[in-house]
Amino acid sequence: MGKHLAVSVIAIAVALGSAPLMAQEPTTDVAETIQTAPISANNPLLAAWTGPYGGVPPWDKINTGDFIAAYDKAISDARAEIDAITANKKKPTFENTIAAFERGGAELTRINNIFGVYSGNLNVGDVPEIELVVYPKLAAFGDEVNQNEALFKRVSAVYNGKEMKKLKPEERRLVEDHYKGFVRNGANLDAAGKARVAEINQRLATLGTQFTQNLLADEDAVTWIDKKSDLKGLPASIVDAMAGTAAEKGKPGKWAVLNTRSAVDPFLTYSDNRALREKIWRAFVNRGDNGDAEDNNAIIAETLKLRAERSKLLGYETYAHWAIERQMAKTPDAAMALMMKVWPKSVARVREEVADMQAVADAEGAKLTIEPWDYRYYAEKVRTAKYDLDFNKVKPYLQLDKLREGMFWAAGQLYGFKFEPISDVPVFNPDVKAWKVLNADGEFVGLWYFDPYARAGKNSGAWMTEYRGQEKLTGDIKPIVSNNSNFLKGKPGEPVLVSWDDAETMFHEFGHALHGLNSNVKYPSQAGTNVPRDYVEFPSQLNEHWLTTPEVMNQFLVHYETGEPMPQALVDKINNANKFNQGFKTVEYLMSALVDMNLHLAGDADIDPDAFEKATLDELGAPKEIVMRHRTPQFGHIFAGEGYAAGYYSYLWADAITADAAEAFVEAGNFYDKDTAKRLHDDIMSVGDSIDPAEGYRKFRGRDVDTSALLRDRGFPVD
Ligand SMILES: [Zn+2]
Repeated sequence: MGKHLAVSVIAIAVALGSAPLMAQEPTTDVAETIQTAPISANNPLLAAWTGPYGGVPPWDKINTGDFIAAYDKAISDARAEIDAITANKKKPTFENTIAAFERGGAELTRINNIFGVYSGNLNVGDVPEIELVVYPKLAAFGDEVNQNEALFKRVSAVYNGKEMKKLKPEERRLVEDHYKGFVRNGANLDAAGKARVAEINQRLATLGTQFTQNLLADEDAVTWIDKKSDLKGLPASIVDAMAGTAAEKGKPGKWAVLNTRSAVDPFLTYSDNRALREKIWRAFVNRGDNGDAEDNNAIIAETLKLRAERSKLLGYETYAHWAIERQMAKTPDAAMALMMKVWPKSVARVREEVADMQAVADAEGAKLTIEPWDYRYYAEKVRTAKYDLDFNKVKPYLQLDKLREGMFWAAGQLYGFKFEPISDVPVFNPDVKAWKVLNADGEFVGLWYFDPYARAGKNSGAWMTEYRGQEKLTGDIKPIVSNNSNFLKGKPGEPVLVSWDDAETMFHEFGHALHGLNSNVKYPSQAGTNVPRDYVEFPSQLNEHWLTTPEVMNQFLVHYETGEPMPQALVDKINNANKFNQGFKTVEYLMSALVDMNLHLAGDADIDPDAFEKATLDELGAPKEIVMRHRTPQFGHIFAGEGYAAGYYSYLWADAITADAAEAFVEAGNFYDKDTAKRLHDDIMSVGDSIDPAEGYRKFRGRDVDTSALLRDRGFPVD
């Protein structure tokens, strides 16, 4: 669930109609001191890319000092293109309005894709300051396009016109997307309504920033440990990290536990000290909820009120209805139905897990009843006893380069792709490597760049991003995609060994890359990964399945010293351990997802977040041994911005599709079945958003998603 897709800063100007820009980026404290020089039209940040492969990003020619002036020019040119559309005296048509809008903003797209890499991979020097200037400018330009009445009038005329019936299905979908994008932002409102929406948006942006700042302040709190005897149970690596944090905080010789998930979870898993576990757990689950200056409850109540008011103004029953309308689920009811199908099964599984843990505690003579601060600790004991899987024994079989070859090989079997390393393109760091991708006929498909190693100024985690989207509107434009991760660079000549989680993540992110590379559509805003939020994680999650196919394991998961494939006993242990603790994982996630949906279905009722959370969970019969993965006062996915508001269900939704799609391969006999792979390509991987995802899926599977596959995948009973 921590895996995510990094969407490029924005798509081209055409995409502005439907997506608010960088809602989560800082919009205050603009660094006005940065001096900028005028920019020339042939500046590498703006000019069409040159070189092989239809042009490549000019990483070797970029001067960060040019970004702001180049952005100013790109925005002003995009504005001029929109002005040309609205100034057209001819009657609005698909071609002179929608297609023209899709064509626009080429310079802005190029600079955004380059700046996205500076923002995510090279965020040092003057880049943070440039972000503070650039993102508000982009947000303002986004608002300007969203509120362009002349443009909306033309889009609306096409949407309501006779031509609509004669358009191809993907063109009709495109018109509808642009039209809805405007309407959903208030284009149909009168002047007073529009003004109120703008006012609400501004206030929501401020509330989102405050929410994040409060949360960060609470996460900076530290639990200090003075005595070595309080470290019992903790592995040396965790103790070292705690000592390092203490030294950084000016108290060498002590140990510090930060109030963040990455520090708290391992502590709760391994510490033998129950009183300390409880103390640290309480601090963590009460972030943003301490009744002090950093309390988020009032912010949440106001945010929900404003979202409800805006949704009503726009003609929707609740915020949840507004948020889900353009997703694959389409209605809150559909999302709720899936969640409530899984909920009772996962709660029943938790009862079994708790019984297993209680038995371990009783056998130890611990004389306790399992509480939330005991869950991870005893789950780890059960895991060791039941599965005896030591991930350190798995690691020698997971060589970064071999895993990459395994991903390539599987993509070759599925899509006919061949990856050839190239050195004739510039890169932004010597560690970044590039490959050209060819299809079965030897034709050029696109480029794949890989930036594997951690460095200062690089986002944590792993992600996929696009340097150039595929499209056929302005030529036969081939995609350039990249995968990014944070592995530690090994010594020269030594292989980089990664964890099992990292190996899964690599296949996951590569699935996003394959979604981009397989794209074969005409219109830019329908290409590749530009699909609904509750669908976009499906191709990537599905791709994780190929890691554990015998073909990949036997050829590529080989011991770095002996070259031997992973022993079957170890493979079996990994597969068995897969379904472990699924009750806990599903329930802690669903508690958050269900509270999210209920909060956003509550309309403009006055909400006391703590009371609402408690009442919702009581009504659901949530197990008392588990707390929400994100309690309401710290639920950044839904309150730091609107990213996942009424949308946290998306992870489960995409999981359900993934499980059902994986069963299609199981039913076909193996994961390399040619016919199933062809349908996956034809109906899912290549179509982007040119058709309704539900329709594409139906073509792939011959029916709608069978959500029972998700239950089977998690080891829950299906009745
Ligand atoms: Zn993802």
